[in-house]
Amino acid sequence: MEILVCIKQVPETKDVDVDEETGNLIRDGVDSIMNPYDLYALEAALRLKEEHDGKVTVITMGPPQAKEVIREAYMMGADRGYLLSDMKFAGADTLATSYTLAQGLEVIGKKDAYDLVICGMESTDGDTAQVGPAIAETLQIPHVAYVSSILESDQQKMVVEKDMADTVEIVEFTYPSLITVTKEVAQPRLPSFRLKLATEDREITTLTFADLPDDDETNFGLKGSPTQVEEIFPPEKDVEQVIWEEQSGEELAELMYTELKELKLI
Ligand SMILES: Cc1cc2nc3c(=O)[nH]c(=O)nc-3n(C[C@H](O)[C@H](O)[C@H](O)COP(=O)(O)OP(=O)(O)OC[C@H]3O[C@@H](n4cnc5c(N)ncnc54)[C@H](O)[C@@H]3O)c2cc1C
Repeated sequence: MEILVCIKQVPETKDVDVDEETGNLIRDGVDSIMNPYDLYALEAALRLKEEHDGKVTVITMGPPQAKEVIREAYMMGADRGYLLSDMKFAGADTLATSYTLAQGLEVIGKKDAYDLVICGMESTDGDTAQVGPAIAETLQIPHVAYVSSILESDQQKMVVEKDMADTVEIVEFTYPSLITVTKEVAQPRLPSFRLKLATEDREITTLTFADLPDDDETNFGLKGSPTQVEEIFPPEKDVEQVIWEEQSGEELAELMYTELKELKLI
């Protein structure tokens, strides 16, 4: 079974400052990590690999330093890694990001036809949860989002539980397909020191714009992004506290009711 996992490098903290002049996030001095949901995606892939004698390939789109998350994936048991990196990919919104990743997956798929693509449910910086389903749409393969459990799998098909918050759906599908996973799918293993040593020299293949099947650069990066960010700003911190004392229970309830109504919360 050939499994591809999309992993994204994200800032370690949500407390990233914004450059007031450019509106860009100030990433200098902020450590980067693998998007936490992608650890769950990778763990699900590694378990399938172990069960079905498969191979796990990871792919990330980002700057050269995104290789760090590929190295981490190697330390967990991934077999191959691809970095999609080119200045032409910069400024991509979710449409251009998923298109670029889908192009990368097409290149990889020509070498080793894949059965399953696994993405995290969402990233902790962008938070849109759009990229996985958009990759599937671009590749024209079926997808199941919010997979919380893999119930059965064999070389032809898979049965999964899809968490819809108030209901759970059981879905069966054949390959090639894409799933996005929640944290319930599998507890990620820790990176192994033995694998760190064993994979130190393992190659990471970089794919640039020139390596992709589509040579129309208006489909990539800022040019291929129909959404534009007008402004980025940290939300105002509202820590105002009101303390009501010495009222009866009924008065407190009345005060609370009036306050919540004014705030349009009820
Ligand atoms: C107009 C615009 C401009 C932007 N410009 C920039 C910019 O210049 N630089 C920048 O860093 N961001 C930029 N972004 C943010 C960027 O578009 C998103 O980070 C990216 O599209 C992924 O979306 P997301 O984080 O919401 O992913 P989600 O859809 O929440 O992620 C779901 C899953 O998709 C996969 N995934 C997502 N992104 C990647 C990736 N890059 N590589 C591998 N797998 C991935 C992972 O498995 C992840 O768990 C911009 C966004 C907009 C709207």
